[in-house]
Amino acid sequence: MLDVDAVRGDFPILNKGVIYLDSAASSLTPEQVVLKEMEFYREYRANVERGVHRFSQRASEEYEAAHEEVAHFIGALGRENVVMVRNTTEAINMVANSIRWERGDKIVTTVIEHHSNYITWLRAAQRHGCSVEAVRSDREGLFDLGDFERAIDDGTRLVAVTHISNVLGCILPVKEIASIAHEHGALVLVDGAQGVPHKETDVLEWGVDYLAFSGHKMLGPTGSGGLYICDEELESTEPLYIGGGTIVDVSLDSFELAVPPMRFEAGTPAIAQVIGLGEACRYLDRVGMEEVELWDRVLAERLVRGLEEIEGVEVYGPIDPGQRVGLATFNVGDMNPHDVALTLDEEYGIAVRSGHHCALPLMKELFHLPEGNVRASTYLYNTLDEVEALLGAVEDIARG
Ligand code: PMP
Repeated sequence: MLDVDAVRGDFPILNKGVIYLDSAASSLTPEQVVLKEMEFYREYRANVERGVHRFSQRASEEYEAAHEEVAHFIGALGRENVVMVRNTTEAINMVANSIRWERGDKIVTTVIEHHSNYITWLRAAQRHGCSVEAVRSDREGLFDLGDFERAIDDGTRLVAVTHISNVLGCILPVKEIASIAHEHGALVLVDGAQGVPHKETDVLEWGVDYLAFSGHKMLGPTGSGGLYICDEELESTEPLYIGGGTIVDVSLDSFELAVPPMRFEAGTPAIAQVIGLGEACRYLDRVGMEEVELWDRVLAERLVRGLEEIEGVEVYGPIDPGQRVGLATFNVGDMNPHDVALTLDEEYGIAVRSGHHCALPLMKELFHLPEGNVRASTYLYNTLDEVEALLGAVEDIARG
């Protein structure tokens, strides 16, 4: 079992008197990642892929090594398959802007998506005369694969689904969905913002074409994230931006793009953040994603069961903790979720998220909750004692 005490030693921020249960919004960062970023500034700060001097060479080596590390972490073939971007949202927009949409194309997504993986497709559809169909789940966030089989047809250009819901914590069968999509020649994009931090990710085993993810939710620096592009789509995917760093040759009337991933990373990138993200993957690899998953399940089990036992508290998402990660949303009676979150912070020193969690279609269609709910989310550094503290506090609040 994961040595939580040892892990916590790497996160000095945990000594600041806050019980941090908001990792689904953004995780904390271990010292190893902070130091790796600082090393860049202190030891060899320079631009990448441009200079011949030793700082630039070292920076380029570290920058490329980070791509390798991230590629390995998500099960990709090589660093050419990983484009460094700022976050999941940017990665999804990159794909939306790169596909050469044709009038009548269909985009299949789900009702539980984060806005980043929803409005992007609505806009693409509005711009190019396409349609969007949102497959519905039940109230626990569980899907019937038959509904994907019915929604995906030969006119479907793209299937864009999340791996794990940021509201319900439920896990989608992305491999099976990808297989249905590919039978109809559709592309598959998985929103890995919540999945990559919590579960072992294997893009080749899943057979997805694109995977978008955020470094800041997986112990990495803010401003870091990635887009995985499968080998088959590397040539057809259009870079969102081009310019410095993306070419092999330019003449007055033509240009030739560089090989991936450089062709997708225009201008000076977020060098320190990318190097930090590589270190975050190294850290998670060292701990072991299997261990992360096992601990996650222990925390999820206590969190969900504990919340369900409190009178007046409604919990959303799968009843079976085995079907979700350490992320639970709930409401306390008819209290406004922001008031609950504020009380948890001010009176108990517990940080949680409240509101619609950028998933308004889900809130409206499945629950009729315009104000949203409260979300407590755990990660590898959280303890059962911290979950107990939350449960005690919510019980107090529910009792009034
Ligand atoms: N998708 C999901 C499922 C998310 O949870 C989030 C972040 N809340 C995003 C996309 C967007 O991530 P980012 O803000 O890092 O772009």
